[in-house]
Amino acid sequence: MHELSIAMSIVDMAQEEAERRNVHIEAVHLELGALSGVVKEALLFSFEIACDGTPLQGSRLVVKDVPIEVYCPACNMPKTLASMQWFCCPDCGTPASEVIHGKELVITALELKQ
Ligand SMILES: [Zn+2]
Repeated sequence: MHELSIAMSIVDMAQEEAERRNVHIEAVHLELGALSGVVKEALLFSFEIACDGTPLQGSRLVVKDVPIEVYCPACNMPKTLASMQWFCCPDCGTPASEVIHGKELVITALELKQ
């Protein structure tokens, strides 16, 4: 399962950081783009497995969904897409020239245990 290896690297990263700063982690915050190719539910499930037996056991993974945002050359501004079926501007239908957001898979914050 693709998500398990991702979850394991998230746990690794968080654990390294926790050791370096000598803290305990309550939750890991992650931004997950709609185009990242990662299934959120599978990742949440995998995170629990990956935490098992590590200092992160019992911590939470907080996922923030990042919608797909593309740049429309006709409107000359970024547009949020409702679906990933069509990479066209939802307002004028022009094919998007560039994906601005949606590929994210990044740890944005570590919540520390007090
Ligand atoms: Zn447009």
